[in-house]
Amino acid sequence: MALSAQEPAGVVEEHTELLRAMLEDQFAAHTRRLTELTVYARLPGHGGYEPQALETLAAAARQGIADTAQALRRMTDGSYGVCERCGEPIPLGRLKALPHARYCAPCQRHQT
Ligand SMILES: [Zn+2]
Repeated sequence: MALSAQEPAGVVEEHTELLRAMLEDQFAAHTRRLTELTVYARLPGHGGYEPQALETLAAAARQGIADTAQALRRMTDGSYGVCERCGEPIPLGRLKALPHARYCAPCQRHQT
């Protein structure tokens, strides 16, 4: 099958199933992590964690769940892979490294 280098949007589409699988894996991993941390928080010794560290890790897991869920929703509504700030397609390399990316790299720098 022929791949055309002139159609970057099509390239992202061809990889959507892979990216979707990555997002679903990450969503599951963050969910598992949050469940684990919730269990630790209830244990007398907090699973060996400082309560503050547990809270920080749980917050990161919740953020990860929110980010991946949002990206999966964007896949469903067709806005996935497009920068929310400038409207340009996000490069595939960036999506593979960061499947839940909402912005291209230059716009991400402007956000922070
Ligand atoms: Zn952008």
